[in-house]
Amino acid sequence: MKKKESEWNQCLTPEQYCILRKKGTERAFTGKYWDNKKKGEYVCAACGHRLFLSDDKFDSGTGWPSFTKPAESDGVKTQLDLSIIMPRKEVLCPKCGGHLGHVFSDGPKPTGKRFCINSAALKFKEKKKK
Ligand code: FE
Repeated sequence: MKKKESEWNQCLTPEQYCILRKKGTERAFTGKYWDNKKKGEYVCAACGHRLFLSDDKFDSGTGWPSFTKPAESDGVKTQLDLSIIMPRKEVLCPKCGGHLGHVFSDGPKPTGKRFCINSAALKFKEKKKK
């Protein structure tokens, strides 16, 4: 999915645009989802691609939604981010290329991964009770 920056600017809120297209970061403990414990799935706020599941969400204490793995094994794209002194691995939506957050290797077992994701890059879809 390719859109011009001006088109993204129109269909996203200023906060979503800043994070997804300009690689911004929301302030810790300010997002909608860091403390969300409901069951469901998290999709990309820009394109709706399924990214993470509530079953893989854990309380990292960082103030950002944190997951041990993506919803599918190829559910996210990563690339090296050298924008600060410490090299980090950036997490991107594989469908629209939007910036989601970063992945670190200090997560809980069994994956040992911590996908640290901005709430504003996500849209939560609550699982309907049967
Ligand atoms: Fe996307």
